Amino acid sequence: MKVLIADGVSQMAVDILKDDFECVIKDKLPAEELLQIIPEFDALIVRSASKVTAEVIDAATNLKIIGRAGVGVDNIDVPAATARGIIVINSPGGNTNAATEHTCAMMLAMARNIPIANETLQKGEWNRKQYTGVELKDKTLGVIGMGRIGSGVAKRALAFEMKVIGYDPYINEERAKDMGVEVGTFEDVIAKSDFITVHMPLTDSTRGMINKDVMYKMKKGVRLINCARGGIIVEEDLRDAVLDGQVAGAAVDVFTSEPIPADHPLLGVKNIFVTPHLGASTVEAQVGVAVDVAQGIKAALNG
Ligand code: NAD
Repeated sequence: MKVLIADGVSQMAVDILKDDFECVIKDKLPAEELLQIIPEFDALIVRSASKVTAEVIDAATNLKIIGRAGVGVDNIDVPAATARGIIVINSPGGNTNAATEHTCAMMLAMARNIPIANETLQKGEWNRKQYTGVELKDKTLGVIGMGRIGSGVAKRALAFEMKVIGYDPYINEERAKDMGVEVGTFEDVIAKSDFITVHMPLTDSTRGMINKDVMYKMKKGVRLINCARGGIIVEEDLRDAVLDGQVAGAAVDVFTSEPIPADHPLLGVKNIFVTPHLGASTVEAQVGVAVDVAQGIKAALNG
């Protein structure tokens, strides 16, 4: 059987597959070429560049499984695959640690003004007084979405001697309490926290969940972090609340639409700092997600 690796993945994934299957490795395969060669293949591995559209699935007459080396499957037409009986797998936990650590890095960098201090010192400005920070110790961190990443962030925040309060409609209260996390309502978390980090998926009910009304129910001077999905926090409302001083700072890795344009509302605002969706971008996570899907594909094709 033949496996097409369309977007180039870690060699460790290839090593898992190569003894049992013929692997064809491409990197950022053009859409027309994918459509042309897909009929030969039994399995397909993609990252985010290749779009597995209904047209591709229609042409994939031998395809049995599609593996997305990552978390989301937004680049795969899952209903079209399911209608054809093609399995779609992903790697929900392969980049959990990477995203957890990135969130903590964002929180620490924001608390100590590291991005702006670096930027200005690189220009030769020695601004010690201007960039006095705040400490995490004894502050309250609100974690909205206590899943894999949210609970990982909570655990690390506790090591910084923060008080952690979590909200999640499906929270395992006993597990949270065992960790040392206080369980609260959404309103509790919003009202009591000095830092708030969101870790839920983007759905119809979470889109715009952190909007202007909610931001003004937070403590004045709250700091917000979004390393989950763009759109959970309303970008224009966040910019306005930071400019107004209601929100003291924001650290944002994900955006409603990516990549963002140069005139994006979160760019050029003092006290907002951004990274270009780097949450999962570590060497280890790239290997983790690729190995997960390779093992899934091997198990599925070998029956
Ligand atoms: P997960 O499924 O383990 O956890 C999500 C949690 O959100 C669940 O516990 C769920 O009950 C909770 N939830 C659902 N609706 C909610 C609501 N309305 N309010 C509060 N909580 C709610 O997911 P995860 O692996 O921890 O990922 C969390 C987020 O991080 C996702 O949006 C994911 O796409 C994103 N992510 C981003 C990066 C990145 O590169 N920045 C990398 C990995 C994951």
